[in-house]
Amino acid sequence: MAPGGACWRGGVVPRGFKRWLSSSSSSSSYGPAPRVCVVGSGPAGFYTAQHILKHHGGAQVDIYEKLPVPFGLVRFGVAPDHPEVKSYGAEDNRVLGIPGENLSGVYSAREFVGWYNGLPENRDLKPDLSCETALILGHGNVALDIARILLSPLSLLRKTDITDGSLAALACSKVKRVWLVGRRGPLQVAFTIKELREMINLPGARPVLNPADFMGLENAVKDAPRPRKRLTELMIKTALEKPGEKTLAAQAATPREWGLKFQRSPQEVLPTADGRRARGIRMALTRLEGSGDSAKAVATGDVEELECGLVLSSIGYRSLPLDPAVPFDTQRGIIPNSSGRVEGVPGLYCSGWVKRGPTGVIITTMNDSFDTAQSVLEDLQVGALDVSTSREGFGAVESILRSRGVRPISFSDWEKIDAAEVARGKAAGKPREKIVDPQEMLRLIGH
Ligand code: NAP
Repeated sequence: MAPGGACWRGGVVPRGFKRWLSSSSSSSSYGPAPRVCVVGSGPAGFYTAQHILKHHGGAQVDIYEKLPVPFGLVRFGVAPDHPEVKSYGAEDNRVLGIPGENLSGVYSAREFVGWYNGLPENRDLKPDLSCETALILGHGNVALDIARILLSPLSLLRKTDITDGSLAALACSKVKRVWLVGRRGPLQVAFTIKELREMINLPGARPVLNPADFMGLENAVKDAPRPRKRLTELMIKTALEKPGEKTLAAQAATPREWGLKFQRSPQEVLPTADGRRARGIRMALTRLEGSGDSAKAVATGDVEELECGLVLSSIGYRSLPLDPAVPFDTQRGIIPNSSGRVEGVPGLYCSGWVKRGPTGVIITTMNDSFDTAQSVLEDLQVGALDVSTSREGFGAVESILRSRGVRPISFSDWEKIDAAEVARGKAAGKPREKIVDPQEMLRLIGH
């Protein structure tokens, strides 16, 4: 899969990519049939292909994917208890760049999410859940996803497509407290109200918010855009409102808790005496310079240490460079482009997180992919692309693959894997039981 999105150019396929899906060509009044190669079968790839096919009756689109299963981060990124969302992607994560980041007990959100979602490369992560306190760095929706998975009652998770292995590990988890730590304040959190509300209402887990963090904020958001205002009001209500007797009784029986900590920037993950595991984290306290979204966190000079045996860094995803021939802005983690047209490489386009950076939900990616597809259609219309029959599309790719002894997996192969997963899930009362070992997938389809 292309990093966090899709790029394509007829006839050029990165090594190891396998054919997925090919639309059938139809004779048309649209001129010569362009062969479009989409690299990456995540939402960006599929939405771009869909838009091209819908608006160019003659186009033939091949989608390539490096894994034996399609749908990218729809399958591997979105929280298993959010089947209605299924959304985000990019193949790397931002690093904290602090001492202790590589200690055992410290994981990136990307690998942790990949683990519970059955991403083959993360299936052996085996996160150590033997501590009582976990700390998540970052105040985004991914951080909330992880907190929710760590604290959700097993009875809820069992009904999702979370992998059996992760479910077994979570069943033995000792984690009962999760801190979500942000370097800025309540007015700068990056998560959204739906995800926060879900966390507040999570059965068996009590929110612990410090009222002092929210004093006076009601005034500060009076004129803020509505989503920010409502989100802040929900935090204020949760922090300041005295719970009723019923809530108090329910909370007293609640074994788990979670909370938000603000204006703390990670400085060092502290090791256990033997230097092998994480035992806590040192954070620099910050003050804010400026206001609103653009406020900057500046260290005050004071520090604070917090005990925790599990540290999850959820500070954003990152796309990776695709190929030396494709320009890449390492600072921003994107391919420089204009409406999806890759700068300096005619005929190459990009969409998804590699086009605009790792933000936004699936609808954002959909619109953004349609924008890229529109650029392709416009370029086809003005004759800016070579669509001659010498551009063979999959025909050329297939002979390269054959010469290298690579057997591609077809969409109907995937359908067999899909059916097997659904059948296994049915036995366990889940929508599917994901197969996490690519070798097992290959055996299943007789490769
Ligand atoms: P995000 O929304 O960009 O949040 C990243 C968080 O990490 C921010 O709180 C940010 O704080 C913090 N951060 C960044 N660099 C840091 C550093 N060096 N030190 C400390 N903190 C740092 O990223 P995300 O949570 O990975 O989500 C990615 C996108 O997917 C978002 O658009 C999100 O809404 C979407 N998503 C949606 C859903 C859903 O719809 N349910 C679920 C998951 C993800 P600053 O603001 O201070 O930089």
